[in-house]
Parts: sequence; C-alpha cells; structure tokens
Amino acid sequence: MKKIPFGMPLLGEAEKRAVAEVLGGAVLVHGPRMHAFEKAFEAFTGAAGAAAVANCTAALHLSHVHLGIGPGDEVIVPAQTHVATAHAVELCGAKPVFVDAEPRTGNIDVDRIEERITPRTRAISVVHFLGVPVAMDRVVEIAERHGLPVVEDCALALGTRYRGRHAGLWGDAGCFSFYPVKHMTTSEGGMIVSRDPARIGRLRLLRAFGVERKEDPTSLYDVTAAGYNYRLSEIQCALGIEQLKRMPEFLRLRRENYLRLHAGLSEIDGIDLFPLPEPPFESSWYCLSMFLGDRLAARRGEIVARLQTLGIGTSIYYPRPVPLFTYYRERYGYREGAFPVAERISARSIALPVGPHLGPDEMDVVVAGVKEAVAGRRA
Ligand SMILES: *Cc1c(COP(=O)(O)O)cnc(C)c1O
Repeated sequence: MKKIPFGMPLLGEAEKRAVAEVLGGAVLVHGPRMHAFEKAFEAFTGAAGAAAVANCTAALHLSHVHLGIGPGDEVIVPAQTHVATAHAVELCGAKPVFVDAEPRTGNIDVDRIEERITPRTRAISVVHFLGVPVAMDRVVEIAERHGLPVVEDCALALGTRYRGRHAGLWGDAGCFSFYPVKHMTTSEGGMIVSRDPARIGRLRLLRAFGVERKEDPTSLYDVTAAGYNYRLSEIQCALGIEQLKRMPEFLRLRRENYLRLHAGLSEIDGIDLFPLPEPPFESSWYCLSMFLGDRLAARRGEIVARLQTLGIGTSIYYPRPVPLFTYYRERYGYREGAFPVAERISARSIALPVGPHLGPDEMDVVVAGVKEAVAGRRA
C-alpha cells in the first residue's frame, strides 16, 4: 500500500548543495544568504521589505511588539486559527478578543469585527484560513475608520492573493511560516513583509537585540531597543532560497490536486465542501478540509482512523477554536456555544492532503478512500 502523507517537505539536490556550501564556509548567521532570501521573498510577494525571522510565531510576536501592543490593550483575533495568532497578543501582555468565523471560508467574519472594537482595541489581526484570502479591502476599511493597524497571519498563505495583491501586503505586517508542512520549508523559519521599508528596518532591529550598527565597520554598535534574538541562520536561509525558486511549481501542483480532489469529493453524499474560491480570491491551496454532514458527524474519529489504515494522512484545522483551548478558557472564561461557526468547523472537518508531493493518482486514491470510510465498509 502506498502511503499518502498529509505533508512532506520536498528537499532535493539543490537544497543539499546549498546547505553544504554554508557548512563549508565560515558565516553561519547574519550573512549574505539572509539578505538574498529576503530579497527573493520581496520579489516573490511584491513586498517593499522583508525580514527573515526564526518562525512565524516570532514574526507575529515581533509585529505586535513593533506596533506597541502591551498590557491593558485588546487585539481583535479570529477564533478559528492556530494558537500562535492569539499567543502573539498574549505574549505582549494584551488581551485577544475573538471573533467567530464565516461559514463559506472559515475566515474571520468581517461583519462581526466592528462590534468587538472597544476604546482599548489597538489592532486587528486576521488569518488567511487554509490559504483562502480574507476580503482585506473590507478589513482595511474598518481598521482605517478606527485608526487601527492590521496584522496578517499568512502562515498558510504563501501564494495567496486578493485583488491581485499578495497576502500580507494589505495590512501593516504579514507573517509567514516555513515549518515543514507549510508551502515551503527552512525546517523552522518565518518572514515578515511590509509595504513600508522603514517598518522592516525597525523589525530587523528588534529581531537582533535592538543592536544598531553603523555603516562604518570599525565603529562600535549602539543598542536602541530591548530586542529579541529571533534570527534565521544562514543554513535555513540557504534552504529558503532554493525552496522559493520551486514555489511556482509547488503552487501549480497544489491547485491541480485541489481541483481534482474537490471534484471527486463533491460526488460523495453526506460531505460538504467550501465552495471553490473565485477571483478576486486566489488561494494558496494549503489543504482541502471536508465537512461531515449531520449523518456522519459523530463518526469523525472512526473515519479518520479508517483513512489512516488506508495509508491516507489527515489533519484537523483546528481541533478547537482558540478561545476554547484550556488556557484561553480558564483565563477569559469562554464557553462552548460562543463561536458556533468555528466550533462547527473544528468538530466536523477533516483536512486532506493536496501538497506537491502528491499527484492525480493519489487524489483518486483519497477520493476512493473517503468513499469507503464514510460507507463504513469496503467499497
Ligand atoms: C503554522 C502556523 C503558525 C505557526 O508557525 P510557526 O512557524 O510554527 O511558528 C501560525 N499561524 C498559522 C495560521 C499556522 O498555520
């Protein structure tokens, strides 16, 4: 039986050679590869500036620090996201204020953002859930009306565009992840993009201790902020440069897989799918989440287990809305029923693989496997 893993990094000879070159030299951090990776990322996304950082969580944290978020502040955060989106706010000593998802995409329900804005609100944070863009013009319009900056969690959105503009470039900071199951990998890694080069300069300062270096190499450095050590190494940046070259091909394969899987699954009774994104929404096709209808909902564990025995890897994005994880529940007293759309996504979805490690034959195997698993017997 052929295994169909949910995600698999695709690292070839070019990546191995690039890493070996770094190991053969003397510069492991703060070198030419970081600069080159940032430049390549700017070119790929159209950003005016990009700062490589240790991971997406660091990118999100640094973005909020940079915006001056602190104790007593509130930040609007989507309920249906990775915990890191909310942790970034929490780590600043501020309070995440959660907004439920909309049913068509799982993205933050833009119509419900404004009702959660208070005099303490300092920013709006959004995530492009599974790679489908949030209608950012609407978010930016609300943010501007209230004088609030916008942070975009783009961990699943490399290749995502809305109205032709890449995700991360609508708001004030866009944060990407290069964790192994994402669109491309540097093992661990992240990037912050912005339309404002001055902002990226400030983020670069905060990334490395707040150290300010003069152009003149003989002069001593000064420290102008309480910064972090959130750097990305030359080894990781070398991987990133090579992986980014492959992104157009990765995106093409993801899209083909997604469309084939979507067509196959749409013929199975009892399963619901998000509608295919249409222009001006351009997805990065991170994965395909299917939703079990009323008749199948109670059988999710069994269906996942059956797919597993068929060699089909799955995941759940995300097992609970963030406010219902123990930490947030205990801290802020959230209860079931407060985020009905996000709760439904968490309770009923099964995420299926569409990554570039797979092709059309594997998509057909997944469709057949889902048919068999929901039938509860061998098809
Ligand atoms: C993976 C992920 C993160 C965290 O990324 P790291 O690079 O592992 O820190 C944050 N947000 C979302 C939406 C993610 O999917």
